[in-house]
Amino acid sequence: MKHHQTRILITGGAGFLGSHLCDRLVREGHEVLCLDNFFTGTKNNIRHLMKAPNFELIRHDLAHPAFLEVDEIYNLACPASPIHYQYNPVKTIKTNVMGAIHMLGLAKRVQAKILQASTSEIYGNPTLHPQPEAYWGNVNTIGIRSCYDEGKRCAETLFFDYHRQNRVNIRVIRIFNTYGPRMHPNDGRVVSNFIVQALADQDITVYGDGSQTRSFCYVDDMIDGMVRMMNGPDTFVGPVNLGNPGEFTILELAQMIIRLTKSNSRIKFEPLPQDDPLQRRPDISLAREKLAWEPMVELEQGLKQTIQYFRGLQDP
Ligand code: NAD
Ligand code: UDP
Repeated sequence: MKHHQTRILITGGAGFLGSHLCDRLVREGHEVLCLDNFFTGTKNNIRHLMKAPNFELIRHDLAHPAFLEVDEIYNLACPASPIHYQYNPVKTIKTNVMGAIHMLGLAKRVQAKILQASTSEIYGNPTLHPQPEAYWGNVNTIGIRSCYDEGKRCAETLFFDYHRQNRVNIRVIRIFNTYGPRMHPNDGRVVSNFIVQALADQDITVYGDGSQTRSFCYVDDMIDGMVRMMNGPDTFVGPVNLGNPGEFTILELAQMIIRLTKSNSRIKFEPLPQDDPLQRRPDISLAREKLAWEPMVELEQGLKQTIQYFRGLQDP
């Protein structure tokens, strides 16, 4: 009889992070099931995997149940950029909450291990800096970002309730801003926006005065942290922050991207969107201690890789 391969379901597998995770797990020889409704993900992100015998694509919307036989689930399905998650906010909540219930129900039935891609957004506009996992956050329940923030918070609650009530084997990671090749060029996130604008010599749109901060993690580092968490001991369920602790103002990011692309773009200041957090930086002591993980890729190095990808999209 053939040795049993680990069968791994990745929801949102055709998206930015999901497709890199598919790459990694297919390369390691696991049987990978990629589930996606292609709301923000595309077949282009995974086209190169379609011929792999250990890769399978399922078109499905996670607002509805899915019945599959799997050993592990990475639950990533959810639009991640403000433009996309605000496009249909009710759907965003359904994807987060119903999606979590459906995947946790599946994990319970087939006794799969399940990892939730949570987010730094659960900290809201933080009053504590940097943010450790023990911080409960400062989130507006009724603002334009709430569909995402509260959807993700409720998903975390569901994970811990299924864990306590049904002994489901869970992992929860809180992902901080991550960037890299295969980001959607029009998803409005700051790194993709600035690179696309810089390459076209268009104005760089800095919202507010650009003094708000973010910490940017390169995708390869993030995927490594994710897989370490999934494969770590069952006693460490998280939540654990994953992100790069290097902190930059949005204005510094704009200037760095102009320099790296040798662009003639100029900086244009636009209004700051509602509820835009003023500062964000992960405290990653827990990930360092429990997963022996920390990011390796410097912002400048990661941006160069990302710029190269976006140049390729311009002239294929
Ligand atoms: P993405 O938008 O590229 O990927 C999300 C994927 O989920 C897409 O392929 C999309 O089509 C799919 N999807 C959306 N709704 C679905 C539904 N109802 N049914 C099935 N599939 C659905 O975003 P990403 O950056 O790759 O984010 C992946 C996960 O990581 C998300 O859960 C996001 O909240 C989380 N996250 C990402 C970041 C980041 O900086 N990239 C930060 C924090 C958290
Ligand atoms: N931002 C900006 N110009 C843009 C896009 C974003 O100044 O064209 C700012 C945005 O206001 C926020 C930061 O960059 O302060 C990060 O935005 P993003 O949407 O990438 O992610 P967030 O961390 O806010 O979810």
